[in-house]
Amino acid sequence: MKINCTSCGHSIDLGINYDDYQGPIKCWVCSAMLEVKAESGQVKSVIPWSRVSEPKQYEEPLSPSSTKRLIQ
Ligand SMILES: [Zn+2]
Repeated sequence: MKINCTSCGHSIDLGINYDDYQGPIKCWVCSAMLEVKAESGQVKSVIPWSRVSEPKQYEEPLSPSSTKRLIQ
């Protein structure tokens, strides 16, 4: 399986071990981290790691019951 680095555009051959893979891949050309999703040898998505690790805005689920338990 081959992916194209989104940072430098180089084709990276990952071999058959990555035909079903989801996780980080390091480009050996420019050392960029890429979040790769592949299924059955088909590349589903290649996302630059910097974009993946951007802080997402979400509401912190505050549980009042657990807070009470700490106080009592
Ligand atoms: Zn690269």
